[in-house]
Amino acid sequence: MAFKDIEGNERAKRILKLALERERLPNSLLFAGPEGVGKRRTALTLAKALNCRQLTADSCDACEACRAIEDGRFPDVMEIVAPAKEITIEQVRLLKQMAALRPLAGKRRVFILVDAENVNPASANSLLKVLEEPPPRSHIILLTASPFLLLPTIRSRCRTLSFAAMASEELERILRDRGFREDQARILALLGGGSLRRALELDWDEIQERKERAWILFEALLSGDGASLFLDAFGTLPKSALEEFRETLELFSSFARDLLLLGLGGDARLLLNPDLEDRLRASGRFSAPRLLAVLAEFDLALAELPRNLNKSLLAAALFSNIGEIRNV
Ligand SMILES: [Zn+2]
Repeated sequence: MAFKDIEGNERAKRILKLALERERLPNSLLFAGPEGVGKRRTALTLAKALNCRQLTADSCDACEACRAIEDGRFPDVMEIVAPAKEITIEQVRLLKQMAALRPLAGKRRVFILVDAENVNPASANSLLKVLEEPPPRSHIILLTASPFLLLPTIRSRCRTLSFAAMASEELERILRDRGFREDQARILALLGGGSLRRALELDWDEIQERKERAWILFEALLSGDGASLFLDAFGTLPKSALEEFRETLELFSSFARDLLLLGLGGDARLLLNPDLEDRLRASGRFSAPRLLAVLAEFDLALAELPRNLNKSLLAAALFSNIGEIRNV
């Protein structure tokens, strides 16, 4: 995949291409941004561009070097993945030794540290030394979704590039281009949370089931007579189900937006959930101002979610706030 084929993150790509053209690419780089927004993809393309036999600022994807890197069989490009959530001292030592050697087959050595926040304290010191004085023809690219978990000394030695999630309109357009129906693209873009990879991983049948469950909870939330139903659903979710909670909140938000659209006499073709049109029309419990207030609560909860790991508390607050809107 060449830079032009990677979706989103135009700024990061521009900086990298410019640095390649001017042969001023820093030896130590940090790609920071959420999961599934293209950090690894971009690092691999960068590795290809550095070693490509045809182009200087992009990957041709056709030459021997580009193809070998893509398949993970190029001796000078190495991905380092932590076994059991910890990058070990042995892995960093190997990196250090290899970085000091001249490239075997290509022009530059590239080391990609996946989930670099998993560098343990013992290996961090060793890594720090390589980042401090990187061998001239070696590049080290650290990838992380949690830059704040990295030692500040490590961060300060790298040129950081931020990778951001895509806007959902952008994601929706890409999904449509890839052949998804318009209504599918809309919901997948919402649930993907700005990540193309996550959107593509979602299973459409499973979404339908999840939507059914979410609708029942949504009705309980709005009518106020399903407190236990709603709170039980979120009080018992394991920690790993944070993503599921976020997706449910996104679904709630999509239901509320649809109700608002219908309430204001909008075009039903614009519904996020056209399959639920009958139920949405039958619902009609809240006036437009109340729906707006409800929507604001969902947005608030979604914004709060990454910071607040106590989901049941968040769910309880959401339930009580919507109760107040209902009783105004
Ligand atoms: Zn090439």
